[in-house]
Amino acid sequence: MPSSKLLTTSFDFQGVYPCPVCRIGKISHMPMMETMACDFCHEIFTVNLEQQQIKMPSRQPPLIWRWNGFNWTEAQLEGVELGWGYGLAAITFVVLPTILIGIVAYYFPPTADAPITWLPYIWTILTFLSHLSIIVWIFVEVYQIPVVAYLRAINRWRNGVMGR
Ligand SMILES: [Zn+2]
Repeated sequence: MPSSKLLTTSFDFQGVYPCPVCRIGKISHMPMMETMACDFCHEIFTVNLEQQQIKMPSRQPPLIWRWNGFNWTEAQLEGVELGWGYGLAAITFVVLPTILIGIVAYYFPPTADAPITWLPYIWTILTFLSHLSIIVWIFVEVYQIPVVAYLRAINRWRNGVMGR
């Protein structure tokens, strides 16, 4: 690899860039079109060279990434700022009910002769897991993380290892 390639900072149609969606494949220019496509998850991006941006139009609102010279910046929803407030809300949503139920379980323990003394603790864990899974699901939905593509890749890799 020529060393000048490493210093290339601008984003253009000649280059091959990491895919910001699956982070496994490479995106490259599709001939005759103003778009780039990933060779792994087959996601298609429209390109804005002036702003060094690519947009994923297959979902609404579209996701946008900016090329910072070395890598893609965090995905942004077009017209939506996902600030730290959302992260805080997500953490609160998971942690607060868990703590509340945990406190109740701690301060109001079932009497020793109750048939199922472990129930409040299981309940606390279930609360945590159910709220966490809701957040994970929203995250996957919003960012369109190609979970299936990952699983296929892992499968391919395992088959490759077995075949050796
Ligand atoms: Zn991809």
